[in-house]
Amino acid sequence: MENTKVTFKSSKRSLRLKTFLLIGLLSLLIPNLIRAESLRVKNSRLEVSFSGSFNQEQRQMLLGWIKEMATSVTDIYGEFPLDRAKVKLVRSYSWREPVPWGEVQRWQQSQVVLHVNPEFGYQRVRGDWTAVHEMSHLLLPYAGERGRWLSEGLASYYQNIARGNSGLLSEKETWQKLFHGFRRGERSSKRYPQPLSKVTRRRGSTMRIYWSGAAYFLKVDLALRQASNGNQSLPTVLKQYKDCCLPNHRPTSALSIVSKLDELSGTGIFSKEYEQIIHSKVFPDYRSAFEDLGIKLGWGGVSFTVDPTKEQLRRAIVKSD
Ligand SMILES: [Zn+2]
Repeated sequence: MENTKVTFKSSKRSLRLKTFLLIGLLSLLIPNLIRAESLRVKNSRLEVSFSGSFNQEQRQMLLGWIKEMATSVTDIYGEFPLDRAKVKLVRSYSWREPVPWGEVQRWQQSQVVLHVNPEFGYQRVRGDWTAVHEMSHLLLPYAGERGRWLSEGLASYYQNIARGNSGLLSEKETWQKLFHGFRRGERSSKRYPQPLSKVTRRRGSTMRIYWSGAAYFLKVDLALRQASNGNQSLPTVLKQYKDCCLPNHRPTSALSIVSKLDELSGTGIFSKEYEQIIHSKVFPDYRSAFEDLGIKLGWGGVSFTVDPTKEQLRRAIVKSD
């Protein structure tokens, strides 16, 4: 009896000790692994979680960063694309770049995953394009593998335009970066002249896919503004798309997205540009769009022509001081 009692007591004590240790361990791990912070951006709520080792100071810095990047995306049409979204920050130890990897996961809810090394410091982290690129994906549903040009094109367009609009890039840097992207896409098209619809994930095709799509959205944005005397634009139609069709976490074909955007805008602009780029073996003609915006291309990069009408149009796309 006595023995049993002792054994019972000691096992109870060891259970208590184990529970105590487990709670201690969890309380150390939970802040790093599970606890999510809620961020309000306009009328949307972002739930930001941390995975890996971030200290309190780094967490605060990164929350400020996510808020600033989400605000940049909010500036596209005045609201964040989704009323609720998750953002997961994963600790990176890469010294190549502050945000070496990002992606959007869509399953019942949309989650933006960003791998970030906070040791780079705030200025370097906020100078990275990845967060604005990934959050811009949320403006439309995932267009599937065949619609990659549409998804990546929209994100590549706004990683520059949205950052220019919110002052993260200067006017010149914005157009310069778009031009560099287009040049890379153009080079890839010349190397592998295939219709965009047939371009696969093969090596060397990434630039073609991303920047053909970005050129598509520049051309659409410009055409909408020109046809409506500035009353309509890509942002106004994307806002209508949010109101009718988001959230939508399921893959949706590029063609059905394009048709819906046409219907919402009351134009045929989205499908007209779509027909032009999807079967073409050459890179979309961005030069005529640049010409209409008063952007000159030279060896030294971009410069602006003095033409008030073109300047007005250009500055409607990228509001600069
Ligand atoms: Zn992307």
